[in-house]
Amino acid sequence: MEFSDRQNKIIEIVKNHQPITSENIAKKLNLTRATLRTDLALLTMLGIFVAKPKVGYLYSGKSLFSFIGDYMKKIKVNDAKSSAVSVMEETSIYDAIVTLFLEDVGTIFIQSKDQFLLGVVSRKDFLKSAIGNQDINKIPVGMIMTRMPNVAFVYPEDSIYDAAVKIINHEIDSLPVVEEVVDEDGKVQYIIIGKISKTNITEKFVQFGTEKPDLKL
Ligand code: ADP
Repeated sequence: MEFSDRQNKIIEIVKNHQPITSENIAKKLNLTRATLRTDLALLTMLGIFVAKPKVGYLYSGKSLFSFIGDYMKKIKVNDAKSSAVSVMEETSIYDAIVTLFLEDVGTIFIQSKDQFLLGVVSRKDFLKSAIGNQDINKIPVGMIMTRMPNVAFVYPEDSIYDAAVKIINHEIDSLPVVEEVVDEDGKVQYIIIGKISKTNITEKFVQFGTEKPDLKL
């Protein structure tokens, strides 16, 4: 989405003369108020202007880019997640690698028999174990995984913006999406309900570019 020349002119006028009424904006552009109505409504809806009754329009200081950020903050992980591939920690490294290929994923989550999140293994972990001359048929994947509590995760109600920040900060490809439960010993555990990866987030960006974003989100 790009602003038209007229919308950019309106933004400049409001920036420099705020608060300003639609009548005065129209005068400066030699246009009628009716002509400006749609532009002003759009710029207000995007949060670029704040419309104050009887005062006029104020510039919020927001750019179109912060609008995209706001949109990303409104999309929940739950609406962007995909299914997670998990194996038990006793699974051999060899079998886990086969699963990685068959399921066409880069990250596998490790879960207990109660489906609690125990860890995560990714391509680099497998490569490390292979060049380390380990017997990948005998060694369980639990030996090479990144283990809880060192696994970064998100909740379904977090935004995809929060997920993207975690992915960047931890320099990883994906995060398990979890729900908290309390186990028999009263300890908090995390059930894996999906994953959110760089691909899931990129999909939302592509959607943003090809579909009309839902501004009411
Ligand atoms: P790749 O191995 O394909 O480059 P990543 O960049 O995601 O994939 O993984 C790099 C390292 O980070 C690996 O050692 C992996 O175990 C670990 N890792 C992957 N995902 C997570 C996560 N959600 N939380 C913590 N560590 C992770």
